[in-house]
Parts: sequence; C-alpha cells; structure tokens
Amino acid sequence: MEGSVQEEQTNYQEVRALRVRIAELEKIQQEQNLALHQEKEARKALETRLHTVLNERDRLIEELTEAQDNINALLDANQRMDEFLGIASHELRTPLTTINGNIQLAKRRLKAFRLDDTREDFANKVDVIREMLERAERQVRVQNRLVGDLLDISRIQANRLELHFQECDLITVIKEAVEDQRASWPKRLIVLDNFSCTQEIRIEADPDRIGQVITNYLTNALKYSAPETGVNVAISSTAQEVKVAVQDAGPGISTEEQAQLWQRFYRVPGISVQNGSGVSLGLGLHICRTIIERHGGHLGVDSIQGEGSTFWFTLPFIA
Ligand code: ADP
Repeated sequence: MEGSVQEEQTNYQEVRALRVRIAELEKIQQEQNLALHQEKEARKALETRLHTVLNERDRLIEELTEAQDNINALLDANQRMDEFLGIASHELRTPLTTINGNIQLAKRRLKAFRLDDTREDFANKVDVIREMLERAERQVRVQNRLVGDLLDISRIQANRLELHFQECDLITVIKEAVEDQRASWPKRLIVLDNFSCTQEIRIEADPDRIGQVITNYLTNALKYSAPETGVNVAISSTAQEVKVAVQDAGPGISTEEQAQLWQRFYRVPGISVQNGSGVSLGLGLHICRTIIERHGGHLGVDSIQGEGSTFWFTLPFIA
C-alpha cells in the first residue's frame, strides 16, 4: 500500500515535470514562431525595399539613356549646323562669283563688237553674250532660292512664317510649278498623271507656298536622280482630302533616313546631287513640312532603296 502511494507520488511528479517541460517547449515554439514571423515580415520589407531600389535604378538608367540621347542629338545638331554654315557661306558666294564672271566676260565681248563685223560674226557674238547672261540668270535663280530658304528657316524658327490663305485651284498651282521646272530642265521628262480628267480642285490655301512645296519636291526629284530618268506627278482625292505625289527613279531612301529628312539641315549621307546647279543644304523639306502642317495637311515619303522615292502631301478640302 505504502509502495503504491510512493509510486503514485513519483508518477505525479513525473507528470508535473513533463507538463513543465511541455509548457517550456510550447513557449520555445511560440518564441520561434514569433521569430519566424518577424523574420518573414523583415524579409517582405527587404523585398519591397529591394523592389523599390531596383525600380529606382531602372528609372535612373532610363533617365541616363534619355540624357545621353539628348546630348547625342545636340552634338549631331551642332555638327549639322557647323556643316551647314560652311556649305551655306560657300554656296552663297559661288553663284555671285559666276554671275560676276559672266557679266565681266559679256562686257568684254561687247567691247569686241566692230562696225565692220559681218552679219554672221555679229550673230555669233550675240549668241555667246546671250549664253553668258543666261548662265548668270540661272545663278541668280539659285541664289534667290537659297536666300529665300534661309529667310523661311529663320521665319519658322521665330514662328513668323506668314501664310496668305485664299480659295484657289490646286491643278493650276501644280501645272505652274511643273511648267517652271520643265523650262529649267528642258531635257527631263515630267509627266502629269491623271490630270486630263481633272478640271479644277478648289482648296483654301496659300497658293505660293503650296507651289513652293511642289517645286521643292520636283527639284529634289530632278537633282537626286539620273538625267535620263523621268519624274511623275500624280493627284488623287477622297471625300475629305486631296493628295499630290511626286515620284522619281532616284537612289531611294532607307526607312531610318525617311524619318529624319524632315529635320532642319538634314541631308541623307551618301545621296548627292546628280545633275544641275542644285545646292543641298537640307532646308527644303523642313520648310515643306511646316507649310503643309500649317495648312492642316500631312506629308511623307514612300521609298525603296535603289528603286526611287515618292514624296507626297495631302490638303483638306474646304469644310
Ligand atoms: P536639300 O535638297 O537642299 O539638301 P531637302 O530638305 O529638300 O534639302 O532634302 C533633304 C535631304 O533629303 C537631301 O539632302 C537628300 O539627301 C534627301 N532627299 C530629298 N529628296 C530626295 C529624293 N527625291 N531622292 C533621294 N533623296 C532625297
């Protein structure tokens, strides 16, 4: 009996010790759970922070790339400006030298006229003088176009390019521009596509400025393509707008360059004037873009390298 009481007491003590131990273990487990939870929270916070830092890093890299692109664009623009100033001063002087030279020569030839000249001598001398004066006249036109473009560019920069809108006939404007070019390039074929069936196309525009755009497209088409190739001018329309397109069989322009050639001073590397007394300053298309956009129209170029280009613009019809 005494033995079993003692045994019971021992058991009781063991149970108590076990309970204490279990309680201790539970406490340790709770503490570990808490520590685990805290670690998870800390890890989550760290991950969030890391995410923010990575985002920040990506944003800074993007900003850096953008800043670098801006610097490169500025350096490019500066280089183009330097090249432009070099070419412009040369191109402005060249026609003057030719004009002056031809006038001096013509004056000398005039002095060589003699009272006893035969009719034939007289006619020959007059022909030579006429040729000299025509050469001078061509250079005056080149100079005039150059000075006009320079003035337009500075007006565009100062936001002061004035347009004189009026109701006018686009067909007349195109035909006049084409006739002028046919006179300047008598050996080149300039075809008007689809024009016979179109009588008149009334638009609200500045006819001189639209003529300037067509002239610029035409002179580019003529000066950048081989002399034996022709140029095509086409017109088409929808209910809302009319489209004019000038197509040549010149060198063609890569997709990358097509996007850039509307910028001021931009000249496509590797494309040079093939014929005529054409100057290349990279001003014309920038002026064209400003004129067409100010008319509420669109413009662009479709081109395949090696096959030619089609420069086009659209103008909205009078509402
Ligand atoms: P410019 O002809 O005086 O250089 P533009 O602004 O009219 O100036 O033309 C910009 C550049 O686009 C030209 O220098 C030339 O490289 C390219 N370009 C324009 N028209 C054509 C064309 N029809 N075919 C090929 N390249 C062209």
